[in-house]
Amino acid sequence: MESVQHTYRLHLTAEDQRRNPYSLIPFDVPHRVARLAVVYEFRSALEVGRVGKESGSVVDLGLFDPRGCDLFTAQGFRGWSGSARSEVTLTPTQATPGYLPGPLYPGTWHVLLGFSQIAPEGCDVTVQVTLTPGDQDGTSQAADGPLSVSVRVVRDGPDWYRGDLHCHTHHSDATAEVATLVDVARAQGLDFLAVTDHNTVSHFPELVQHSGPDLLLIPGTEITTHRGHANVWGGRTWLEFRVCTDEEIRRVREQARDQGALFSINHPKEGGPDWQFGTTAGADAVEGWQAPWWLSNHVSLGFWDRLLREGTRPTLVGGSDKHQGPYDGSLSLYELGTPTTWVYARSLSEEEILAGIRAGHVYVSQDPSGPRLEFTAQCGDEAVMMGDELRVPPEGIVSFRCRVVGAERGWLLRAIDMDGEAFHVAIAGADFSYAWQVDVKADNYLRVEVIEPPLAPLDEEPSALFVFAASNPIYVRCG
Ligand SMILES: [Zn+2]
Ligand SMILES: [Zn+2]
Repeated sequence: MESVQHTYRLHLTAEDQRRNPYSLIPFDVPHRVARLAVVYEFRSALEVGRVGKESGSVVDLGLFDPRGCDLFTAQGFRGWSGSARSEVTLTPTQATPGYLPGPLYPGTWHVLLGFSQIAPEGCDVTVQVTLTPGDQDGTSQAADGPLSVSVRVVRDGPDWYRGDLHCHTHHSDATAEVATLVDVARAQGLDFLAVTDHNTVSHFPELVQHSGPDLLLIPGTEITTHRGHANVWGGRTWLEFRVCTDEEIRRVREQARDQGALFSINHPKEGGPDWQFGTTAGADAVEGWQAPWWLSNHVSLGFWDRLLREGTRPTLVGGSDKHQGPYDGSLSLYELGTPTTWVYARSLSEEEILAGIRAGHVYVSQDPSGPRLEFTAQCGDEAVMMGDELRVPPEGIVSFRCRVVGAERGWLLRAIDMDGEAFHVAIAGADFSYAWQVDVKADNYLRVEVIEPPLAPLDEEPSALFVFAASNPIYVRCG
């Protein structure tokens, strides 16, 4: 039998995009289809936009099978490629990265189009679906049910484990396979790596086979909306991303929590892209440091610090957001682990790393070599570490202690509380400890940074901040 082809043409205006930035195109799949292909292109009036290339418009692609495509209850998610690919194919056993192989169920499927950007003059989109008849031999179960990713202890024992919580493969808009990404993570000496491709879970099954005693791989997804991005770590199924309102992003976060996963706001800074929802959705964490520090991370760290001052306690994390390309064995200044997130965990396992993040037992350093931080506090018999709360009786004196390993002489150790900078001291050498006492009179928090001596006063010129390492706070509660 011959292949069957359907072609769909749409004209979109910027007004259409404002009304609804997603559109579903239904098409029917009969029994006995062995291969399904979708090809699309979009064209603005002024120029032809090749998919993935700069043009006046950007249109994204996804796919749902007949099990459902409704907002928040879609059971039929089969893949998402953003604007990274102009052509995708599915068979029962294979799929384009970003998409899930599995049964090509007969019934009504939907092509999902996402309108990231529509040129003022409008945009023409052409979608072509090709169905190739044949038997569905060797159907895998990959598209059915929750994805099985084994949870096991990779390494025993409590320790500070170092890793990266944000990166991409060819399952979204990077070019490298998971295997290449993992090679770089090992070369960087990382203990854990959360792989967070955009809006898909097609990379999850591969993570199991690449995890080993020296490297824990954590399934992640970067929920990529038109109003901001958030990482979810430790989920097991696909999560809704077609959300526009504050209420909807809260619901995504609830769905993540229901799976025991963590939800973290990504790169809240101009060009990040920024977080434009009116709520943090009760995020567990904030990526206050994404990619090398100089990429406007003083803004992201300031976003997080504002949340602390408002009384919430999201954990500060870092993420390289590396879109992995070819790796020939040589490392550049911007790799996985730029920056590195250090987590104090009872063991190197997915469950314990996520528990450590949830507890705020985390600091971020510019790369896997450090600088390394210890930050503790004591009042009477009670001793805590970063992320913890210390209860202090009236008239209580709190003793703080910070150790910095791997910093250069002349860098500064800076302490920040609810009112801004509390003090700074010059770091005297490669293994530097500093202790101080605070007569605590009100609830507060204290966190530390290792910074370069700023070239301008930081309260007047926040962009003069250059950070080498930053801790989570110790929260002090009076009475
Ligand atoms: Zn992002
Ligand atoms: Zn990303």
